[in-house]
Amino acid sequence: MDPRHAILFEPVRIGPVTAPNRFYQTPHATGFGWQRPQSGAALRAVKAEGGWGVVCTEYCSIHPSSDDSPYAFLTLWDDDDIAPLAATADAIHAHGALAGIELWHGGSHASNRMTRVPGIAPQIQPAMYHLPTTARAMDKADIRAFRGWQRDAARRAKQAGFDIVYVYAGHDYLPFQFLSRRSNMRGDEYGGSLENRARLLREMLDDTREAVGDSCAVAIRLAVDELHGPKGICAEKEGRDVVALLAEVPDLWDVNVAGALGNDSKSARFSPEGFQEDYIRFVKGLTSKPVVSVGRFTSPDRMVEQIRKGVQDFIGAARPSIADPFLPAKIREGRADEIRECIGCNICRAANNEGVGLRCTQNPTMGEEWRRGWHPERIAAYPRRETALVVGAGPAGLEAALTLARRGLEVTLAEAGRHLGGRIVHEAALPGLATWGRVRDWRLTMMGKLPNVHIFRESRMGAGDIAELKSDHVVLATGSRWRRDGVGVTGMEPGDYPRALTPDDVFAGAEVGPSVVIYDDDHYYMGGALAEKLARAGHQVTLVTPYPQVSGWTVYTDEQGLVQDRLMHLGVTILPQHMLAGQGAEHARIACATTGVLSDIACDSLILVTGRLPVDDLWFTLSGQPNLARVGDCLAPSSIADAVYSAHRFARHLGEPDLPPRRERPSHKSL
Ligand code: ADP
Ligand code: SF4
Repeated sequence: MDPRHAILFEPVRIGPVTAPNRFYQTPHATGFGWQRPQSGAALRAVKAEGGWGVVCTEYCSIHPSSDDSPYAFLTLWDDDDIAPLAATADAIHAHGALAGIELWHGGSHASNRMTRVPGIAPQIQPAMYHLPTTARAMDKADIRAFRGWQRDAARRAKQAGFDIVYVYAGHDYLPFQFLSRRSNMRGDEYGGSLENRARLLREMLDDTREAVGDSCAVAIRLAVDELHGPKGICAEKEGRDVVALLAEVPDLWDVNVAGALGNDSKSARFSPEGFQEDYIRFVKGLTSKPVVSVGRFTSPDRMVEQIRKGVQDFIGAARPSIADPFLPAKIREGRADEIRECIGCNICRAANNEGVGLRCTQNPTMGEEWRRGWHPERIAAYPRRETALVVGAGPAGLEAALTLARRGLEVTLAEAGRHLGGRIVHEAALPGLATWGRVRDWRLTMMGKLPNVHIFRESRMGAGDIAELKSDHVVLATGSRWRRDGVGVTGMEPGDYPRALTPDDVFAGAEVGPSVVIYDDDHYYMGGALAEKLARAGHQVTLVTPYPQVSGWTVYTDEQGLVQDRLMHLGVTILPQHMLAGQGAEHARIACATTGVLSDIACDSLILVTGRLPVDDLWFTLSGQPNLARVGDCLAPSSIADAVYSAHRFARHLGEPDLPPRRERPSHKSL
């Protein structure tokens, strides 16, 4: 280990328990919840194995009045919930880490679509989670009952074996709703002054401690700023006052910036590493208890700085631990250059927001620990000494080459261009996306350590070249190109746009006129990012999209509002709910998506950000050849995460039957 990093491996006391080091995996969603306990346990086990000193679960509901369906959450509603959660605690303990559990009540933010119990809140509150409804105001009996639920859940958490039990007052959930003036206008002793609004939180901390006794730590997760200025909880005023008020009550402070759920997990496009520091740095000055916070930390030097500067006692991480569950082990073993750094793309957040299992662009094994048995650091050796040719060095080609080489095949990676990285070469140059280059960089670093990969640039492979090499396996990872015919997610009919440009043309240096229309029927980042790039370069940009919002799919990566805000501030004109209908010499013709009414927008250039087509001519030329495969965008154009996953899956299972993943099913014994 680099001696400068030794401080990260000091044990830290948290009340009655001791964390073996300062690496703290804060609670984060997995998409597994109570329905898939084995998947959840296997995922957390890998984190603990990778050296995280504390590993926490995702949110765990204390009562059916807090049901986040259709999203996956844990439950401690009755004693039958104890055993599945004990499996997670055991799996974490098996690697010497502490197990934390985040007890949760969503208040007016719980949809209760499964349990159909009316929501509860400090005051009667219109709520909109899937259906416009109303959360009813809690009376004194409700508050008493609520405190009982927290106590019961805490007792069960202890029984399940957890070492750290959370009181969760972040992300605008129930205790936070009591805390914030914005959602608490009660006239009784639970409303009014800050002391009154913090009463329930203090009671919950006391109740939890009473329930768990003196062998578990009680942690508080508090949003010290909800980004609403002095109208709400903010770091300068009431956030600070709450910490002062409860300073020594919990055993650990897990602090963040919240309000909306995504504020503490903004993508790299909208926040740098350590982005919460200005908000949370005051906390350590007010309490003697250990403090943890997140900040997408991937650099060990930056982590050491956090500790030395006294910002926090732990290095809190959700996303860096998803991208590299073995981050602490790599630092400990002096292999920091091997850290698979989070790129801040928020594909992991998207999985949660879409209600599916966790996934990660950098780490294709995330979420696959149980259902496919994948491990981020271990892979089975290929049984024979064989050769593989990988064609194309984009994310898929790089991942395929690395994974095949890790399995012991003799790998040749041929790339047509001078630069390695495929689409990443250009996309990482878009505003705010520089960290995406880490997808390429990590794979090149790791391949650089292997003697059995040979990389050739400026080597466009034709069918003859491929035949000449006589490789045992040929993997085509030749990527995709943007469509020119306007066919996108919404517009199915091909059109004729001879003068239109595509993102490929723009990246290749095609001239873009002073006024430009970007037609976005792709809806992920490309349309918005190009609009931003061109607006910054002085172009007058109009973004037309059939969706009601710009970059509509980025709702799932928690970026949509930020994209819209940025584009509007840059003066981009946004024209939602319009389809492209044609192109004239100096205009783009568009049609209202509802009425079909046509109008023209004057422009010098039209850029089509619509669908993509695979670059698969080699596939069809060579079709029928044995041991030929295609992966990534060459198979089906999609996200970088999907390209990496596709290549990993192929390479990891090469030589095996292509079986469906295991699924957790209800036991017939219990029926
Ligand atoms: P993916 O996301 O699936 O990895 P990319 O489009 O990012 O796809 O990368 C594909 C890469 O394949 C590009 O770098 C491209 O230059 C390269 N490529 C395409 N055709 C050939 C070929 N015939 N020979 C070598 N490289 C190729
Ligand atoms: Fe980081 Fe993206 Fe992986 Fe999430 S999906 S952990 S943001 S690399």
